[in-house]
Amino acid sequence: MANDLRFQVVGEAFKKKPLDVIAPAERPCEYFGKKVFNREKMYKYLPKDVYKKMVDVIDNGTRLDRAVADAVAEGVMQWARENGVTHYTHWFQPLTEGTAEKHDAFIEHDGKGGMIEEFSGKLLVQQEPDASSFPSGGIRSTFEARGYSAWDPTSPIFIIDDTLIIPTVFISYSGESLDYKAPLLRALKAVNVAATEVCHYFDPDVKKVTSNLGWEQEYFLVDEGLYAARPDLLLTGRTLMGHDSAKNQQMDDHYFGSIPERVAAFMRDLEITALELGIPVKTRHNEVAPNQFEVAPIFEDTNLAVDHNMLLMSLMKRVARKHGFRALLHEKPFAGINGSGKHNNWSLSTDTGVLLHAPGKTPVQNLRFATFIVETLMGVYKHNGLLKASIMSATNAHRLGANEAPPAIISSFLGRQVSELLDHIEKADKDDILAMNGKQGMKLDIPEIPELLIDNTDRNRTSPFAFTGNRFEFRAVGSEANCASAMITLNTAVAEALVSFKQRVDARIPEFTERLKGTEHNPVYHSIIDVLRDDIKTCKPIRFDGNGYSDEWKAEAARRGLDVETSCPVIFERYLDPDSIQMFESLNVMTKKELEARNEVKWEMYTKKIQIEARVLGDLSMNHIIPVATSYQSLLLGNVEHMRNVFPASEADELNARNLLLIKEIAQRTRSIEEQLEQLVSARKVANKLDNEHAKAIAYHDTVAPLFDTIRRQIDKLELIVDDAYWPLPKYRELLFIR
Ligand code: ADP
Ligand code: MG
Repeated sequence: MANDLRFQVVGEAFKKKPLDVIAPAERPCEYFGKKVFNREKMYKYLPKDVYKKMVDVIDNGTRLDRAVADAVAEGVMQWARENGVTHYTHWFQPLTEGTAEKHDAFIEHDGKGGMIEEFSGKLLVQQEPDASSFPSGGIRSTFEARGYSAWDPTSPIFIIDDTLIIPTVFISYSGESLDYKAPLLRALKAVNVAATEVCHYFDPDVKKVTSNLGWEQEYFLVDEGLYAARPDLLLTGRTLMGHDSAKNQQMDDHYFGSIPERVAAFMRDLEITALELGIPVKTRHNEVAPNQFEVAPIFEDTNLAVDHNMLLMSLMKRVARKHGFRALLHEKPFAGINGSGKHNNWSLSTDTGVLLHAPGKTPVQNLRFATFIVETLMGVYKHNGLLKASIMSATNAHRLGANEAPPAIISSFLGRQVSELLDHIEKADKDDILAMNGKQGMKLDIPEIPELLIDNTDRNRTSPFAFTGNRFEFRAVGSEANCASAMITLNTAVAEALVSFKQRVDARIPEFTERLKGTEHNPVYHSIIDVLRDDIKTCKPIRFDGNGYSDEWKAEAARRGLDVETSCPVIFERYLDPDSIQMFESLNVMTKKELEARNEVKWEMYTKKIQIEARVLGDLSMNHIIPVATSYQSLLLGNVEHMRNVFPASEADELNARNLLLIKEIAQRTRSIEEQLEQLVSARKVANKLDNEHAKAIAYHDTVAPLFDTIRRQIDKLELIVDDAYWPLPKYRELLFIR
């Protein structure tokens, strides 16, 4: 009963050759954005006044009126027609994973029995997808049955194949957001307003603060034939079983190694496609685990970067298939080797420059730098549990806390120099600071930090929120996640910290004005330093420069009062803490009702994921593993039988000692699998009876999920015993090393 399918797919995977990727005749900077209705196209296809209005809408968030929308629709239509486009869709980011779209053709009846092509401002601005099947956490049933999508003019329209794609927000008729983008746009507005006001202490000319995001997308590639022969990968995105390959990542020979040819062809193809769609992809390399890779663009405004990441993830899947691969975006497709994350490099910049840059040349620049670092830390400290909730998912839970990726405790690494700067501000005697002289009536004698040093040497790979020279790197985000979730929380938390900072500074200015009367000192700067000193003390528990993987840190973090919870459904509760609701509501990002609804969706999704995994594990065990193990056991039993025919019984059994042990081991292990599957089924039955999503998710986490690993252990042992020719599923060494 040799397993032909496995050998067949392995053989075919071995033979595959890289595809020829024909690059466009132009250079990348020439075909960059070719399929995007960007400013250059707007300039070409829109009347001058409409173009100006659109730029104002994009840059300054002014309202877009209907006449402008009509004129834009006309220009877009002309461009679309020239590119052979026949359909259009509103593209949005529902609370499930991925993106959603519903395509409509441009055609309309002409009233004379024929058809005309039509696209109007109305169609551009609003569409009603039949949204009843998108999760809303009950919002749509309590309020209004339908949701609608509305154009987000700050993210440009683009073309894929024959379809014009319009980025949109997805909201209910009563105004509740049903997607990631609506609250993201509100969070970005909140941080813009709060940060701009704080910037005015240092530079009254600042008009706008932008939040930037540069993500680094990690992923695995697996040959599609092998993938198809693994029902667990196909249905759950990860392998639920599979013994370690004898060789995996222990030689460190994959990271930054030379890229295999078939993979390089895929990457080239993906990059060309991405660049044409305006995604500024720049970096590609092998990652730590075998068959693991990374792609990263140049950072962009956060809203656009989020859209580009969503788009890139769907492009990856398409392009991979063209090359006979499947792209795995799951955070932990394989046990025992590294999982995949998506570092979110985040910073704030003004229309006049970067805010989180290493200390500048003047004391004022240094003070501004310190302000934004400290207030970012204040936001992260106050909401560390919530930030963890923003990156947590059933799939990312496999990665956090394991000895590879960021631990399940949010802390921040600043590096020696920035830490010294904060210590300096904190410890300098209050009156010393007041007495300091200088051009601005103040001097912070901060040593200058050479930029190169920060970028290259001062790193801590175990920190989930590390300062890396001109930005923070939020490393806990999962590879499959929509970055918006983390970005909504981070930007809102920083906005809240900045609002509170400004209130406290303003409150202290009169006192300092009084005290500093007759001196050259600037009372505003003194008030800022005074508040910063308080805040540096307050947020100190979030600063941690040591090894985030160590057990000592877990204990220490708990002592410091940081959130050390590891259960995914419990972590989601942080969204409903009074502090979180207060933060989101006061900054107009999300209402309590929206937060509650979103949590329902999170818990429900969690349960469904675990439920599907439990079913797949059950099916595979019963239909693939146990029958094969039993067949092999029968073969061994036959051998014992035959030996007894040839030799005296006691001699036969002595000669067959190993086989007898194996027969027994197979029997014990299959029995153990069966017993645990029974437990799994009854745990699910109990959980399914619970009538609220929160309790159900917790039950699935506490009673169902823990059985996965113990069942798997038995299966993986059987994999080592059973004749390789019988084993039905492609093994780790095949999945990970054949490309
Ligand atoms: P690594 O962290 O692996 O060294 P890179 O230095 O290539 O990676 O940068 C990773 C990402 O950080 C890129 O997307 C890059 O554009 C982005 N990045 C660089 N500077 C900033 C910044 N000031 N704000 C946000 N993202 C940034
Ligand atoms: Mg990085």
